[in-house]
Amino acid sequence: MLDKSNRQINYLRLSITDNCNLRCQYCLPENSNNFSKLSNLLSSDEIEKIVKAFSLIGIKKIRITGGEPLVRKDFPEILKKIDKIEGIEKIAITTNGFNLLENLEEFKKNGLDRINISLDSLNEKKYNEITRGGNFNKIFETIKKAVETNFDRVRLNVVIMKGVNDDEILDFVNLTKNLNIGVRFIELMPIGEGKKFISMKNSEILSFIESHYNLEKNCNEITDGPASYYKVSGFLGEIGFISPLSNGFCDKCNRIRVTSDGFLKLCLHYNEGIDLSAHLKHNISVEDLAKLIEEAIYNKKPKEHKMNSTDIVENIETKGMNKIGG
Ligand code: SAM
Repeated sequence: MLDKSNRQINYLRLSITDNCNLRCQYCLPENSNNFSKLSNLLSSDEIEKIVKAFSLIGIKKIRITGGEPLVRKDFPEILKKIDKIEGIEKIAITTNGFNLLENLEEFKKNGLDRINISLDSLNEKKYNEITRGGNFNKIFETIKKAVETNFDRVRLNVVIMKGVNDDEILDFVNLTKNLNIGVRFIELMPIGEGKKFISMKNSEILSFIESHYNLEKNCNEITDGPASYYKVSGFLGEIGFISPLSNGFCDKCNRIRVTSDGFLKLCLHYNEGIDLSAHLKHNISVEDLAKLIEEAIYNKKPKEHKMNSTDIVENIETKGMNKIGG
């Protein structure tokens, strides 16, 4: 569907939990355990209803995220339910790879098309430090197996922080030489714990890579929205850039979010939207839910608006990334 600014909104990021098995330093405080009660999370039936409503208004791609979506025991059931919904063409997940290795085949069979795995270091010790406990070798094995399992697409999400992992940029690029993956550099946003680290602009990362390699621009897919993709000549995989800060992309925004407690979030940076869970509790029909969602999306923040950390505005988002879903 088109919003008031004529942007094609075709991509839903659906968070199914705010809980996570890791405590990445830029995302969650070390001792955080203030997660939503299970009873406050959308149930698999409610998720199914919401996705049906979104499909009625023309959403074709769903990304399941969190928190860590795979900590939900009913993830397989959620996946199967979404897969059966007419109009949903692609189902993707953003995960830290938790318990994924042993389930890759089953998830593929049950409709999962695309996988994004967050990996901020290729160094075992540093990865363990950044994530406060993650097992690099297992995740790396998972990534290789995901590529072999022939998912439609396997991508890595990499957040570069100055003085932490900015010495690994070329290592990440080199990973795309023989492995058919996309490495996506995502600019660190000054949200929650992210404020404690120094971000590196993607324009800086791109120039650095270009000083070592010839890059060819790759075509974007319609649901890629604001990301831009390149390839090192002769390499199998690709590299991508998501630059919310240095290259405000509100004019190309194609997405909408639903948080794990059922809040339809219209813009990453603001807590504006509608509480779908209240309507679900009153047993709203799929069609009426679709109308509500359509009206809200139509009024999404205008494309002239630019995300800017120095903006002083009302309704600015204060929740951490685990609550928002990335
Ligand atoms: N647990 C899953 C994972 O690790 O991919 C999904 C949720 S996580 C919040 C989604 C994405 O948000 C991850 O790729 C993570 O790197 C990114 N993220 C978290 N905090 C961020 C921040 N302040 N700025 C930019 N990206 C952030």
